[in-house]
Amino acid sequence: MASLAAIAFVLIAALETWRQPATDRQSAQRWVTNLALFGLEQIFTLAWVGVLAGFATWVAGPSPLSPWTDTWPGWIAFVLAIVVLDATTYLTHVLSHRIEPLWRLHAVHHADRVLDVTTTVRHHPLEVVPTATVLSICAWVFGLTAAHVAFYAALSFIVQAIAHADLRLPRPAMRLAGLVFVTPELHALHHSRHRDETNSNYGQLLSVWDQMFGTLVDEPRSEPISVGLEAYSSARFGGLLGALMQPFRRPDVTSAD
Ligand SMILES: [Zn+2]
Ligand SMILES: [Zn+2]
Repeated sequence: MASLAAIAFVLIAALETWRQPATDRQSAQRWVTNLALFGLEQIFTLAWVGVLAGFATWVAGPSPLSPWTDTWPGWIAFVLAIVVLDATTYLTHVLSHRIEPLWRLHAVHHADRVLDVTTTVRHHPLEVVPTATVLSICAWVFGLTAAHVAFYAALSFIVQAIAHADLRLPRPAMRLAGLVFVTPELHALHHSRHRDETNSNYGQLLSVWDQMFGTLVDEPRSEPISVGLEAYSSARFGGLLGALMQPFRRPDVTSAD
């Protein structure tokens, strides 16, 4: 499943480049920055998951729900994994927009001024600390295995890669897909500079959580959607170092509509 996610990423990147070759230096710098952040995030993820695994074997016993979940057929466990891990990711994402220190880290993802497949992997490496911790607790409570988490991670990565892609997919098909899944139309609104749009469409894989909790916006204020964050738009937040230091620097402005 992980290799399928990697193939999807490369394929989307190739299609984007074929549709609109990016030749200017700014585009190249964005790609390098976003991919370098991805590399660093992988190193931090391995290290932090190692810490969590050590902590789990030392402190936590078997899952409180394992007497029930252990007896379920394998496919039910995979469906359960998708539902509970995606609901947890939705909730963590909402909190990342509401709690200032979490927002400082998550804003690195939102500070990208253009959306393409590389935005998918643009995350501050430290963001893995809250997200992996919450997901690990969720996996432990529901008795999910590493295989379940890896399956969900790969599936949601593919949907997110499509959601960030600059491919102009057919609107009617995307409208239909958006009833269940996060689509490019829905996620582009999440990257809007308008705060009411930024604070909407938190879904990672499924759009049903946004529908259920009233955070879904499916019509933009205006088109084309202006992507990025006013607060982090100056040159000092550009490049790899600018992105890494962004959570620890004062924003340019503190309020936007
Ligand atoms: Zn967000
Ligand atoms: Zn995004």
